[in-house]
Amino acid sequence: MRPARLPLAHLPTPVWRNSKLDELIGTELWVKRDDMTAGAEAGNKIRKLEYLLADAKAKQAEVVITCGAAQSNHARATALLARQLGMDSWLLLRATSEEDKLRIGNLLLDRVAGASIQFVSPDEYTRRDETMRKIAEQHGQLGRVAYVIPEGGSNGLGTFGYVQAMVEVCEQAAAGLLPRRFDTVVVACGSGGTAAGVALGLAETGLAPRVDAFAVCDDAAHFDAVCTELCRAARLLCPELPPPVELIVHDQFKGPRYGVMSAEQAEFLAEVAATTGLILDPVYSGKALFGLASLKEKPRRALFVHTGGLPGLLAHEQVQAANTT
Ligand SMILES: *Cc1c(COP(=O)(O)O)cnc(C)c1O
Repeated sequence: MRPARLPLAHLPTPVWRNSKLDELIGTELWVKRDDMTAGAEAGNKIRKLEYLLADAKAKQAEVVITCGAAQSNHARATALLARQLGMDSWLLLRATSEEDKLRIGNLLLDRVAGASIQFVSPDEYTRRDETMRKIAEQHGQLGRVAYVIPEGGSNGLGTFGYVQAMVEVCEQAAAGLLPRRFDTVVVACGSGGTAAGVALGLAETGLAPRVDAFAVCDDAAHFDAVCTELCRAARLLCPELPPPVELIVHDQFKGPRYGVMSAEQAEFLAEVAATTGLILDPVYSGKALFGLASLKEKPRRALFVHTGGLPGLLAHEQVQAANTT
């Protein structure tokens, strides 16, 4: 039995191909357009939130508490979807400067959705789980049921979002929309839940023997441990899930640091847009596809999950700068 799920996303998302993109990357590339899972709440997080918010609703939550970077796509999706479901949201956001707090990109959407926003320093953010627990307790003392969602929506329950996404791809393959077999599925990796869900979903469906996850922060050892734990937690909730396929974490393409691209990465993002019309984002999908294009040994045929992030791009001037040089 699968956990309960709310139908929040616009599914199935399209599968997209472009011969110029194949040439640019150097592989037969199929793009799963999860940047099109919805309107302003689009991206990969909505798939996890279908499960997490179903649980929040079942527990009669009135407020959803979550966390992330100031330009967190997850926080924005949570704020918008909580509102749709008649719940309030409380966002604990990591700000490194006053500029981070500008009302642009994701933060603009958080604000207009009426989210309560609490900025914390990077140091305070390391204690986010404890802080969110305390905020939930404070709501509890006022008689309001609060539901806490960890960073990125990545826990055992959220992981089912991408198990289900791989089932969806298999159904599209059965309908003749894409091949039934890939050498790998390629994703960006920020909190691990997408990569872990894909690894479990591939084991269940046989679509591909491995996942290539491109880290945008931390390192391979960190994500190996995180994804192993997420798969374990998901399989506790659903013991009939087979163990995950091989998950390879690449940590050499994350650029200068989280949320910051190298000049080469920014140029790549602009080149993809200019030659194919595909818009990647500067924090995740742009770095993942840049990583795939940079691999010495490329897969012959890959499925790239475009995980969204457009509002983050709209809060970034670095790409434009790269384009004008
Ligand atoms: C969060 C996010 C990711 C990474 O997904 P995780 O499950 O956190 O690893 C990738 N792309 C975009 C656009 C995201 O917002």
